[in-house]
Amino acid sequence: AEEVGGGDKEVVREYFNNSGFQRWKKIYGETDDVNRVQLDIRLGHTKTVENTLKMLTDEGSLKGVTVCDAGCGTGSLAIPLAKEGAIVSASDISAAMVAEARKKAEEQLAADNGGEAPVMPKFEVNDLESLNGKYDTVVCLDVLIHYPQSKADGMIAHLASLAEKRLILSFAPKTFYYDLLKRVGELFPGPSKATRAYLHAEADVERALQKVGWKIRKRGLITTQFYFARLVEAVPA
Ligand code: SAM
Repeated sequence: AEEVGGGDKEVVREYFNNSGFQRWKKIYGETDDVNRVQLDIRLGHTKTVENTLKMLTDEGSLKGVTVCDAGCGTGSLAIPLAKEGAIVSASDISAAMVAEARKKAEEQLAADNGGEAPVMPKFEVNDLESLNGKYDTVVCLDVLIHYPQSKADGMIAHLASLAEKRLILSFAPKTFYYDLLKRVGELFPGPSKATRAYLHAEADVERALQKVGWKIRKRGLITTQFYFARLVEAVPA
């Protein structure tokens, strides 16, 4: 596996076990103690999850399909995937995130159990660079934003090596408008902006995929006022 430089990764782990966990648990939750910006981000992220589920189910039923959700956060994708019948392995660098995801899955997958019970996702604390095994599908949503392109290249290559049929990634696109917005944000950093956000040019992500023999088959773009994500589905070339 490629080693992602200790610096970024340790800062990210620490953030998502502490203040980042508190902040993102709220954004990814359902409670109304969020501000206007957080609510907007919640909406954008919900669309990313919905579009991902659509990309996945468009190719047929997920029943029995093995899916690796790398950087699973609070389980926003892993839980609906399990409801669709997928065999989910969900992991995150943050133990706090994994504990929250497991708790939510236990609540939601048990309560949902009208007919056949869904298979509970297998949750694990692990950074995506250390994951191994083979999965039909690997998904990694909104994680690359925490790493510069130089690190993202290796992460993309490693994720592709785990995937047999497809890889779905989302990242904050480096477009002129968003670049500008981000620069303005850096001039006025809010108290909760504890980590830096890295934008990725679509061409750079595409090049990283091509280098390991993958090509992009579908693309989506999710934008709200404060949330921007490029969603790509890649398959072996
Ligand atoms: N993928 C989830 C979603 O879309 O709901 C969570 C997105 S959240 C913005 C980023 C997540 O990536 C955090 O839960 C964080 O702990 C995790 N993360 C960051 N770096 C990681 C790494 N190197 N390996 C695994 N997880 C990582």
